[in-house]
Amino acid sequence: MKYALLTDIHSNLEALTAVLEDIERRAVIEELWVLGDIVGYGPDPGECIRLLRSRKHIAVAGNHDASCCGRINAMYVMNPEAATACRWTSKALSPEDIEYLNGLPDVIERDDFTLVHGSPRDPLWEYVTSRSIAQINFDYFRTKYCLAGHSHVPMVFKLEEDGRCISLPFSESVGLVLGKDMMIINPGGVGQPRDGDPRASYAIYDSEAKVMRLHRVAYDIKLTQQKMIKQNLPLRLISRLEKGL
Ligand code: ZN
Repeated sequence: MKYALLTDIHSNLEALTAVLEDIERRAVIEELWVLGDIVGYGPDPGECIRLLRSRKHIAVAGNHDASCCGRINAMYVMNPEAATACRWTSKALSPEDIEYLNGLPDVIERDDFTLVHGSPRDPLWEYVTSRSIAQINFDYFRTKYCLAGHSHVPMVFKLEEDGRCISLPFSESVGLVLGKDMMIINPGGVGQPRDGDPRASYAIYDSEAKVMRLHRVAYDIKLTQQKMIKQNLPLRLISRLEKGL
């Protein structure tokens, strides 16, 4: 069976739509696995939630999801632009959207995978962006693999038999083979990629072949930016989309 891994959609309807169309072209998907931050930053929070809810999916909460629905008060730890966007998002959400976000768990275990937004040690907030942080986090989940988002950068960390943590390349040209070693895998961001490539990023996992592949999808960035300008969302959030940073 095949599963699509999506994270950090961030209210970007054009990116989410393009990714869902790309998935349909490539494979018959059993279920979408969403690693949080469905909302925050972008102009279409409610539309993204509704589109996602029209598909078979499971999802964990991200820091933006939990903040925007009022489950946690995180304004004081967010940067000013993120906080502004979060306040705007809170007002744009319907009661049903808020109820949906409120109900998202922080951690889901599914088959060989633990799904979190940040890290297994700190599901809402910690970034797994280095080998040393990944190394510590291997002690905090009991499945073979962990899927995480939050950094908006595709990344893979593997725990070797001798206990060393190494990082592996994860790009479109590489099929990631999931073997006996534990791994922490980040499929990159759908709605606000930060690895220098502005195209939406996601992955498809084939559970029979035990191979995961990363895919990048171009979308109508200009349209998303125009909507953000209309809603007076912070300029830096608008301009970073075209840079992928
Ligand atoms: Zn995010």
